[in-house]
Order: sequence, then structure tokens, then C-alpha cells
Amino acid sequence: MREIAEAALAPDTDADGFGALPVPDHYRGAVLRREDREMFHGMATADKDPAKSLHVREVPTPEPGPGEALIAVMASSVNYNTVWSAIFEPVPTFSFLERYARSDAPGAARHDQPYHVLGSDLSGIVLRTGPGVRRWKPGDRVVAHCLSIELRSPDGHDDTMLDPDQRIWGFETNYGGLAELSLVKENQLMPMPAHLTWEEAAASGLVNSTAYRQLVSRNGARMKQGDVVLVWGAAGGLGSYATQLVLNGGGIPVCVVSGRRKADLVRSMGAELVIDRAEEDYRFWKDPTTPDPKEWRRFGSHIRRLTGGEDPDIVLEHPGRDTFGASVYVTRRGGTVVTCASTTGYRHEYDNRYLWMSLKRIVGSHFANYTEAWAANRLIARGMVHPTLSTVYPLSAVGTAAQDVHRNRHSGKVGVLCLAPREGLGVRDEQLRQRHLAAINRFRTDAG
Ligand code: NAP
Repeated sequence: MREIAEAALAPDTDADGFGALPVPDHYRGAVLRREDREMFHGMATADKDPAKSLHVREVPTPEPGPGEALIAVMASSVNYNTVWSAIFEPVPTFSFLERYARSDAPGAARHDQPYHVLGSDLSGIVLRTGPGVRRWKPGDRVVAHCLSIELRSPDGHDDTMLDPDQRIWGFETNYGGLAELSLVKENQLMPMPAHLTWEEAAASGLVNSTAYRQLVSRNGARMKQGDVVLVWGAAGGLGSYATQLVLNGGGIPVCVVSGRRKADLVRSMGAELVIDRAEEDYRFWKDPTTPDPKEWRRFGSHIRRLTGGEDPDIVLEHPGRDTFGASVYVTRRGGTVVTCASTTGYRHEYDNRYLWMSLKRIVGSHFANYTEAWAANRLIARGMVHPTLSTVYPLSAVGTAAQDVHRNRHSGKVGVLCLAPREGLGVRDEQLRQRHLAAINRFRTDAG
């Protein structure tokens, strides 16, 4: 593995050099173990600690099959799906691997193992390609998006997210990116932005593509210039990219965050309208089963005060149960709530009168198709959207990294170094980097 890392860091290793490197038969990855899947049984969600279930272990290297590539992973990032996986909620991910193996998709049986290597982001170098791969070759510097599809049914050919065999790599499939090596399909690969380090390049894929589909794509809310967009968790993973996409597209973000530091962070991205939900002490529920419409109205008035009387055309929803009633209430007549998650609970309650009488829409959205992920990556590569990397951990501390995200102690994205021996490596376009350095470092807690 040392030879691979050295070759990756040497500026002159070419495709032949990479292709000639021996592939180790084992590699280290962040894994869950099947035998641990009941370990948190009966505990409250908040008390489940990913650092107890995530282990860095050696696993056998899979052989890339037709249309697949084996990647030497330089860096990865923690996503919220890493947290869900590591606390075995809502179900242990081993049931996804078993279901995948039961499908007749080529190569699927390999994914059902007593270990699950997690991770839905990576930056790295193509090490080997399987039969039929033409677009990518050993030595290519890449990032990977996390959409895994089979496309054997007609359903997915208009929008590949509608493929019945759609899965999230490193969550519903094995051999994810939080590891030294990773197995991907060739149509997950995209060029690594040349002005970023390995850890910066690995930060954006999942959340940036998701926010892009939610807000910009015709499959989402189709944001237009001047739209007022309410962004929950605007200094978090999804929200920090959503805020940038709204500003880029000529929209007006209303950023909800908790705490002054996060409020400053979203202001530093150019957002002017900010709500500190902790300072305002919004409580949208009187008790665990009774919503409080008075609080929805107080929140709506707050938004109108900030916008000069306008309601949000779009609400970017992901907290779920805690906020959904308020989101539906505050959306403008004819506006759209676009939801991709339910962090605080997936049984939502809202007052339907505010939806149908005001002709609002709720749109379900999930990750992004290859076209959307590519478009989102292009914005990063051109320096139009910037990674929001805050802290970086070594692979050996991946459990602590996931626990930080679970505890909402982080901002933006939390990175993980895999084969990269330290931060700051991998940049090929210094000139572009220098133009955007301040923006790239906005979220860094330790940047000088
Ligand atoms: P994240 O980095 O933890 O950010 C979430 C933000 O939500 C936090 O920063 C927090 O901001 C805010 N928040 C937490 N609890 C809240 C509450 N009770 N009320 C209001 N705001 C609250 O996570 P993320 O990466 O953005 O992901 C968010 C969710 O989306 C997760 O459930 C994840 O699994 C899901 N997701 C789904 C997809 C998909 O494809 N379907 C893709 C990406 C993510 P403040 O405390 O500052 O308000």
C-alpha cells in the first residue's frame, strides 16, 4: 500500500506506472461488523456512539468486474449516512447488502459480507479498471459520486435516480470510500477539481449533488433568479452548499442555523438574511406529539421581517419531524418544500389546509443522477462553489469524526485522510487555488 501512496504523490507517475503497481490483496477500511448490529438495542438515538461500532480493519480487496474500477483512495468524508449506518438506524445496513446480493445484478453477491466498508465520497486515483472500461484509466485523478445503478429496467432511463436498482454506494453497497481502496462503477467517476487538495476534493460530492438536484434541477424545485429560499441547517453539510447554490443562481437565501459562529459562517458566504434558531428558541412542538402553530406563525413573521414581507418560494427541508410543519406553513402560496431527509424523525406532521388551499407542493428528492452530479462537480471545478471542509481526521479516527457529526458539533463537512499522509497535497492548479483560497478556507477551524 505504501508503494501506491508514494506513486500517487509523485508528480510523474503515468498510467503505465499505475497500471504496473501490484494491488494488495487486503486493505484497511472503516467497517461495521455484522455481529455488532444489535449492540445499541434499546438505547436512545442520541446515546448511540459511532466510535463504538466503527472499526478500522483489513478486508480482502475485491476484483473490479465489467464496468467497474478500483480506486486508490486519498481522502474521503463523513456523511450523515455514515452516522445512520454506524448507529444501525433506521435499519442495519447489512439488510441492504443482503437485498443487493439477492438481486440478480452482476457482481452483487460480493457485496454481502460479514463486514460493511462505509463511505459515500472519495478523491483518489484509478488503480485498475474492469473489462469494458474505456473512459477512465489507471492514473486518472478522480472524485466519485455515490449513485450506483444497474439500468436494466426502462424505468431509469429518463432519470437514473428512478432505476429500480438504484443504490447509494458505501451505504447500500459495500467497498465504500472510507478506506485505502474502493470499488466503484465507472459511471460514478468525475474529474478531480485541479485546484483542490485531496481532502477538499473529497468533501463535496454527496451533499453538493443532493443540494443541486433539490434546488436547481428540473427534478427538484427549479430555482429561479430572485427566489427566496429558506435553508435549514445552512452551515451544515447540505445547507452550506445549498446556500452557495442559491447565491450563485441569483436567489435570496434565508439561512437558519444554531449559534453565532455558524451565523458568521453563512454570512461569510454572502448570505444576508440569517435566523439563529437557538437564540430565538423556536419550539415547533408543545410536547412530543403536539405541534405548536403559534411558533410556526412567529417563525413566518421573522422570515417576513427579514425579506421585506416575502415568504419563501422554496424551502430546503431535511431536519424532518421537528421542522416540517413550520416549513409547509411558511412556504409562499404556490411554492415548493423540497425534502431529502428526516434527521429528527420521519413521521412528519403538518396542517394540510396550508398546503392545498395555498397550492403548495412537497417534492421528494434523493441524491442526484450522473448528469446532476457532474454539473454540481463542474461548479466546484470552476471555482463557482467551494468545499466547506471544516476539520480533517485520519482514517484511524473515523469513529470520532462520525460522532462529531452525530452530535452536531461540526460545521460544513468533516474530512478523512485515507492514503494521503497529511493535509494540503494533491493540488495541480495553484493559480485557480490562489484566486479562491479565502473561500476554500472559510469553514476551516484551523486555517491560518
Ligand atoms: P449535517 O452536516 O449534520 O447538517 C444538518 C444541519 O441540520 C445541522 O448543521 C443543524 O444545523 C441542522 N439541524 C439539526 N437538527 C435540527 C433541528 N432539530 N431543527 C433544525 N435544524 C436542525 O447533515 P447533512 O449532511 O446536511 O445532512 C442532513 C440530513 O440530510 C441527514 O439526515 C442526511 O442523512 C440527509 N441527506 C440526505 C441525502 C439524500 O440524498 N437523500 C443527501 C445528503 C444528506 P443548526 O444546528 O446550525 O441549525
